[in-house]
Amino acid sequence: MIDDKNDNNEISRREFLELGSAAVASVAGMLAMTDVASAQSSPAGVKTGRTDRISDPGPTNKSLDAANADVSVPPLTDAGGVPTFKYPFSLSNRRVFEGGWSREVTVRELPVSKSMAGVNMRLTAGGIRELHWHSAAEWAIMLYGSARITAIDDEGRSFIRDSEEGDLWYFPKGIPHSIQGLGPDGAEFLLVFDDGDFSEYATVLLSDIVTHTPKEILLKNFGISKQSVAGMFNGELFIFQAPVPGPLEEDQKVAAGRLGPSPYDFSFRTRQQTPTKKTKSGEVLIVDSSTFKASTTIAAAIVTIHPGGMRELHWHQNADEWQYFISGNARMTVLATGHRARTMNFEAGDVGYVQHTLPHYIENTGNTDLKFVEMFKSNRYQDLSLSEWLAHTPPELVMAHLKIDKAAYDAIPKEKAVILPE
Ligand code: MN
Ligand code: MN
Repeated sequence: MIDDKNDNNEISRREFLELGSAAVASVAGMLAMTDVASAQSSPAGVKTGRTDRISDPGPTNKSLDAANADVSVPPLTDAGGVPTFKYPFSLSNRRVFEGGWSREVTVRELPVSKSMAGVNMRLTAGGIRELHWHSAAEWAIMLYGSARITAIDDEGRSFIRDSEEGDLWYFPKGIPHSIQGLGPDGAEFLLVFDDGDFSEYATVLLSDIVTHTPKEILLKNFGISKQSVAGMFNGELFIFQAPVPGPLEEDQKVAAGRLGPSPYDFSFRTRQQTPTKKTKSGEVLIVDSSTFKASTTIAAAIVTIHPGGMRELHWHQNADEWQYFISGNARMTVLATGHRARTMNFEAGDVGYVQHTLPHYIENTGNTDLKFVEMFKSNRYQDLSLSEWLAHTPPELVMAHLKIDKAAYDAIPKEKAVILPE
């Protein structure tokens, strides 16, 4: 394709974007951005030695290049080495079982992601992620279908809910829990952990406990018959197939026993919430411990951006941002210190990461809604926008920096819009 267009194998940013345009709705808009980028990085009379025309006559992975237009031919505003902040779940090893599969993106896959990790999991109808717990807290969002979640609270009281698409849950560290797919087609969900070093291979499993405890100890511990102990399961389950569970109310009643059900709610229904901020270009729902009380170590923003829209330039004072892209196409530039900046492209199933305090924007580059979640290891969501900073700084001070006139200064939004254009 490239050869057809260019005898000398030179690829310009413009042509490159056209090549990848299946997913690019606002090509015109992006081309305009390109021209601005070129102009800004090459002011009149200043030789930068950089160009937006490259050649690539040797081997290259054309499908990856096309899906990563801003990596293959970076905007001229990009500079220096910024560690990669993208990892697609598609490159993760998938552990496949009767009953479901799982794959993870941790600090081992994405070295910059030190504070958080994620697991993408599928369970068939009846498929069980076995009873377990871990040393990290677990936040989850249901992406497809429905599942029954069980846990006990610190007082040993039972918690059981059915989780539907869009619902969240949060299990603190050490709280034992399970997940089971419901009919008709089970579930798929995203788990996010407040520790980049987390691994789904390192969880405390019920099957591990009974397999590696001497039989006479199990006998003493449970007070069950010798035959029952002898016939007990040996090995690791992790994910396995079982019958679809019965009615929720029945499970809740039986599990509650004499203690009664837990008064804590480890789940949260996002569909019952009104957006925290809504503009004509999209909306954001912020969910942190101010509304989802249980979620004391993880805060989230669930963002939808319509075609042509953009999550404005901003940063987070308090925590790194772990992102998961649910649908659509995006590009994000992370502006690092020391004259460094890097732009990367994202689509459904990709994980992104921004270290705390580094400015960034996220632009919808597709012709469908862009949906993603921003996750933070914190009890509170926090951000500052570039516009609100400048709007609340003396105009002369800002104008002296940017060489803009008062009319341009006055046009800068006075409050953060979150999603632009308003
Ligand atoms: Mn878990
Ligand atoms: Mn952000």
